[in-house]
Amino acid sequence: MTKSFSFTLNATDGKARTGVVATPRGDIRTPAFMPVGTAATVKAMMPESVRATGADILLGNTYHLMLRPTAERIDRLGGLHKFMNWDRPILTDSGGFQVMSLSDLRKMSEEGVRFKSHIDGSEHWLTPERSMEIQKLLGSDIVMCFDECPALPADRDRIASSMRLSMRWADRSRAAFGDRPGHALFGIQQGGLEQDLRGESAEALRAIGFEGYAVGGLAVGEGQQAMFGVLDYAPDMLPADKPRYLMGVGKPDDIVGAVARGIDMFDCVLPSRSGRTGQVFTRHGVVNIKNARHQDDPRPLDEACGCPACRNYSRAYLHHVFRSQEIISSMLLTWHNLHYYQELMQGIRDAIAEGRFAAFQDAFHAQRAEGDIPRL
Ligand SMILES: [Zn+2]
Repeated sequence: MTKSFSFTLNATDGKARTGVVATPRGDIRTPAFMPVGTAATVKAMMPESVRATGADILLGNTYHLMLRPTAERIDRLGGLHKFMNWDRPILTDSGGFQVMSLSDLRKMSEEGVRFKSHIDGSEHWLTPERSMEIQKLLGSDIVMCFDECPALPADRDRIASSMRLSMRWADRSRAAFGDRPGHALFGIQQGGLEQDLRGESAEALRAIGFEGYAVGGLAVGEGQQAMFGVLDYAPDMLPADKPRYLMGVGKPDDIVGAVARGIDMFDCVLPSRSGRTGQVFTRHGVVNIKNARHQDDPRPLDEACGCPACRNYSRAYLHHVFRSQEIISSMLLTWHNLHYYQELMQGIRDAIAEGRFAAFQDAFHAQRAEGDIPRL
């Protein structure tokens, strides 16, 4: 169990890569999708069910956990893995992004961010040092640098000064992280949509040195075309022998396009959140289970899917429990969505390993373009 953290590339196909991130808590097959367990739970899912979908790693949110139940309490109770009954790898974000998006009355300085909790208005500090401390208390396997991510669109001066602040915070994060064998610290590239700023950021991160590198500051409202525009060059600026993580992305076609541009890791609330709002991801595109066309339909959501929602229940039943706001609706639809995402990742990994990722992409887009199966 004293295995160290490592990344092994097994195959590449164009810019797409497949490999394994090894950690003492288990291997992460890449490209990997990390379900989001915001408040020490992937909503509507038991941890063993999340694992059954094929997930190798979960994401936890520092901002939420530091406010409730607090990192100190989780530490006293044996750490986040034990607390939430997930013994495989966990990646935690730094809290930076959610401080910006959720908290009230933020006050930002070189030191860090002072803010008020969105839950009870209590005052808190987040600094690179405090973020490292919290992520250590949680017992996170992959720790993210504390950074600032400005919302887009923002002017170039704002993007540049924010990126440079984040690079100084990356340096402080590295120093505060210390020497923790078996645990990893990932740096986060910023720079918005500006190629030269992305390059400056990558250079600053490489000079510090990290076990992995994230492309940050995307999927914040810029649209897929602009995001792919950045991903055409940004991953290449990061070390090829370290995992590359695209934060907060995304829709299935975002993931496929980002893998084609050299990304190895993803996280997004979309499959779990959509499961609770009746949006279902299938090979044929998105199905809205709320739609009346499903109410007499005895067919499964997706006849080729092996998840419990598809194996054991009809569209008519899933429509009924969604309309009735039954809890099982969130459970089944989330399970299906997470299963779909993990099957997508397995398909991507197999295609890269077999050197047919271009054909995989064509088939993926063609099948989605067909749309949902014809109504009965
Ligand atoms: Zn299914």
